[in-house]
Amino acid sequence: MQREDLVFAGICDWAGLVRGKAFPVAETNARLKRGVGLTHSNIMMSCFGPIMTTPFGTTGDLVIRPDPAAHVAVPFDDGTAERFYLGDIQNTDGSAWECCPRDFLKRAIAALAGFGLGLHASFEQEFVYTGIEERPGATYALDAFRRQALFGEALTGALSAAGFGPDSFLPEYGPRQFEVTIAPEPALRAADRAVIVRELVRGVAWRLGHRAILAPMPAAGGIGNGTHIHMSLWEGEAPIMHDPAEPYGISARAAPFFAGVLAHMPAIAAFSTPSVASYFRLTPNRWAPVNANLAVQDRGAALRVAPVFGTAEESAAQQFNIEFRVADAASCPYLALGALIQAGVDGLTRRLALPPPEAQAPLLPRSLKEALAALGADKVAAGWWSPVAMRAYLSFKEAEIASLANLSESAICARYAEVY
Ligand code: GLU
Ligand code: MG
Repeated sequence: MQREDLVFAGICDWAGLVRGKAFPVAETNARLKRGVGLTHSNIMMSCFGPIMTTPFGTTGDLVIRPDPAAHVAVPFDDGTAERFYLGDIQNTDGSAWECCPRDFLKRAIAALAGFGLGLHASFEQEFVYTGIEERPGATYALDAFRRQALFGEALTGALSAAGFGPDSFLPEYGPRQFEVTIAPEPALRAADRAVIVRELVRGVAWRLGHRAILAPMPAAGGIGNGTHIHMSLWEGEAPIMHDPAEPYGISARAAPFFAGVLAHMPAIAAFSTPSVASYFRLTPNRWAPVNANLAVQDRGAALRVAPVFGTAEESAAQQFNIEFRVADAASCPYLALGALIQAGVDGLTRRLALPPPEAQAPLLPRSLKEALAALGADKVAAGWWSPVAMRAYLSFKEAEIASLANLSESAICARYAEVY
């Protein structure tokens, strides 16, 4: 049997899944220029597979242009490899397509650059690994860690081979639940890496004959899988977030950004917690947020001011970051981070102030339906992309809700657990 190496060129789409096409590695140079073909209705492919609704019909051509900066080539012992590029969706003339998720983030980054600022981010992702048995008392235990050692080490090896600095790999609170974190990077690269980490987690689990389930609620009433997005603002090489003299320790320059995130949080949720099951996770007593609030070192908050270690101010300024917890793996990282940055930019534009720590924070949306209504009603969010893209996104997600009508909470969780 003669094999030829293939490489996949994909995009993380609105469903938060990487889809695309493969080509022979030998054709890489030509494909980097030409891309691989796609149609407009591809973006309307639901997380469950079928295109449930599309304003684009059967016409039109687009290309996925692979980005050499988002290339993965990770070999495994069994002779297989993870070989893929992430890319942009472009019109045939090479311009960005208005529905491209990566372009959504790029435009947000450019808007923030208008304030002389850049955002660094790091995604912490939780998931269930099915390769070990469920045992009571295993939470955070060395014994739980030992039982998945092969998976953890293979994953860490894959992340290193992909050129990432894995930060930590740990057993989490839920049965068979783990978490992987990687080092912070500028926003676009951080979102690319979030996508790549998910795929490597899935790829390593699959090679070991098991699955990684990243779905927000693998089982009804169980423990949620969060994706926590750590963010810090920088001016060039200088961190500008920290000022111990200001409320929450957030500098006067950075505060309006996070006030903007709080102000638009219901609309952001339509991108960052974009599944029906996402809202089973955002319920009390799950270490997941319920209110659109900001709090210092509180893992129940939507925005958590993360701790800094040590006392030297220079090091504190470097470490200081805020964690956004209203996100999960049903989200497309480009859309989630793009919406966060755009909301922050609106806060900077309007010089919004942070609420005082004692203020009562509004509730987050209680369902995807509420989040979509908030997105549709948010006049600022209407400017984050084109009216065509906004209408298509809302109808895409409304169709997903309709497809689950009449299913029980556990049946809905099971549907998503098959997908993510
Ligand atoms: N699993 C929790 C969530 O759904 C988070 C637990 C933690 O604080 O790491 O967000
Ligand atoms: Mg965690």
